[in-house]
Amino acid sequence: MHINDAVFLEDLCPKLRLRQWRKSIHRFTGKSCIYCGKPSESIDHVLPRSQGGLSTTENCVPACLSCNGDKSDENALYWYRKQKFYDPRRAMAIRAWLEGDLRLAVRLLQWANPNFKVNQNYEKDESEFKAA
Ligand SMILES: [Zn+2]
Repeated sequence: MHINDAVFLEDLCPKLRLRQWRKSIHRFTGKSCIYCGKPSESIDHVLPRSQGGLSTTENCVPACLSCNGDKSDENALYWYRKQKFYDPRRAMAIRAWLEGDLRLAVRLLQWANPNFKVNQNYEKDESEFKAA
């Protein structure tokens, strides 16, 4: 992971505020939990803050309250592998997200869920950021 990637969204729009940033994170997955696909009601720190995890886009994924609470301070990929709803495509998406490749992450999530319709919004958001 490159240090510069950590400010990916901020680079696109320097004025992006925290709330908008949180919103944009949810938008990447079409407001669905990156782990199980249910509506995302929270943002999960993949590497917990207690272990030095930062509030960067790479370390913050949309998650439902159930996954967020259940995962707690465990390593996300290790925890995810033990879940009944485990899907290797989602695991790849999580990995891509952690590496800062949101575009790939979104593609993999779409692959995991054919009903996933976030792509248009995602492209639209990106052009909005560029215009700002
Ligand atoms: Zn979930």
